[in-house]
Amino acid sequence: MSLVRRTESDGGRLGQSLLTGAVNRSALFADAGLSRDGNGRLHLEGVDLTRLAGHVGTPAWLYATGAMRQRYAELASAFAGVSHRIHYAVKANGNLGVLRVFRDLGAGADIVSGGELARCLAAGFAPDRIVFSGVGKTGAELEAGAAAGLGSINVESLEELDRLGTIAERLGREVPVGIRWNPDVTAETHPYISTGQRGIKFGVPADQVGDAVRILSRHPRLRLVTLAVHVGSQILTVRPHQAAAERLVALHQEVSSAGLGTVRALDVGGGFGIRYGDEQPPAPADYAAVLLPILQPTGLEVHLEPGRFLVGSAGILLTRVLYRKQAGGKTFVVVDAGMTELVRPSRYDAYHDIVEVAPSRPGPETPVDVVGPVCETGDFLALDRPLPPVEPGDLLAVLGVGAYGAVMASTYNARLRPPELLVDDAGWGMSRRRETVEDLMRGETPEPFAPPSATDDS
Ligand SMILES: *Cc1c(COP(=O)(O)O)cnc(C)c1O
Repeated sequence: MSLVRRTESDGGRLGQSLLTGAVNRSALFADAGLSRDGNGRLHLEGVDLTRLAGHVGTPAWLYATGAMRQRYAELASAFAGVSHRIHYAVKANGNLGVLRVFRDLGAGADIVSGGELARCLAAGFAPDRIVFSGVGKTGAELEAGAAAGLGSINVESLEELDRLGTIAERLGREVPVGIRWNPDVTAETHPYISTGQRGIKFGVPADQVGDAVRILSRHPRLRLVTLAVHVGSQILTVRPHQAAAERLVALHQEVSSAGLGTVRALDVGGGFGIRYGDEQPPAPADYAAVLLPILQPTGLEVHLEPGRFLVGSAGILLTRVLYRKQAGGKTFVVVDAGMTELVRPSRYDAYHDIVEVAPSRPGPETPVDVVGPVCETGDFLALDRPLPPVEPGDLLAVLGVGAYGAVMASTYNARLRPPELLVDDAGWGMSRRRETVEDLMRGETPEPFAPPSATDDS
């Protein structure tokens, strides 16, 4: 019996085992900005990956900026008919170089922590183009957001709304707020990333409008500017978005009839799915065709919060084969990247296509488990995956890792996090260097001490 292949509930739509059709590799290459030259060597936009690996080593994250820009342009043009803002969901990939690409395109940012706020400010986003989401913001994070003058702080509970009101009074400044509603819409995606149905931790239940209005009236420094929903991630149909948008419009009517006329924008969230294998995700124009007729009559601004859609396909992980071993009738290809770099295969049972960087030797594809060096049986990038006869020293590219890849990396087994590079037709640049052992041990000592501020407690 191999490792977990599917979740018990029917929700494992991202699963390796649920990929039924053939992988649409030409479409995956087009989405990623990948191509092969006359010798079969893989290029990402203008960069020869064999040569690049020689310069920077492996493993390494590469992000194709042309592919990111193209995704952004497609979305912006699909919604061009209505006043809209695209807030890039930073948690998908918070690399400063990636953030700068989206800032330069005119995007805002959707953040979920004080750390992401600091990243966005460092990348040059204007505070009023930043939306602060998240179900568990601390008092300090709310205060930092309020003091920074963010475009909106989107609360996810009435308790948080009340707390933010108190902070706004203490700071003596008006704070624009959004309310993220739970629209009770079930998105058909992996259960861990489905966020819009009743009975989960996200959003304010839609039957609490009256309470929300009462709290807002007690806190005159809060100004309700946005009503938001976000129903999940890697959603492959427009239906859940459509249902959520209809709810949002109904909620806006409720809020307006309760006397609140300050709402400027309806935020339909993110979650737009991408192709990892054989999926046929909707195009931006498909979302616009369904959502605009619902949203446009309100006359409000439309906000979108895509993360994965903008960066997922644009990222690849370069890794080198260390060993090819046989055990228990199986073939293992041991590579120098694993769950510490890319946790999605073991955490979500996610499928990521894996291709050779240079065609190595002739021979048929055979099924292998592609595994990493981490001391965990759950450390794999692919199971039972047909691969050409790769040998130690060969380079592989893992596709579709631009979103929820590097940001979920860990240093388990004291592994050093790989560098992150931005690539385009003109060449490449390093946005984050490879971690060092000094980075790994920063702030740590074998001789524990009491920090000066704590000494008077003892
Ligand atoms: C995670 C998240 C997003 C982005 O989700 P994607 O699936 O990456 O598009 C958008 N909005 C909120 C509130 C989120 O939590």
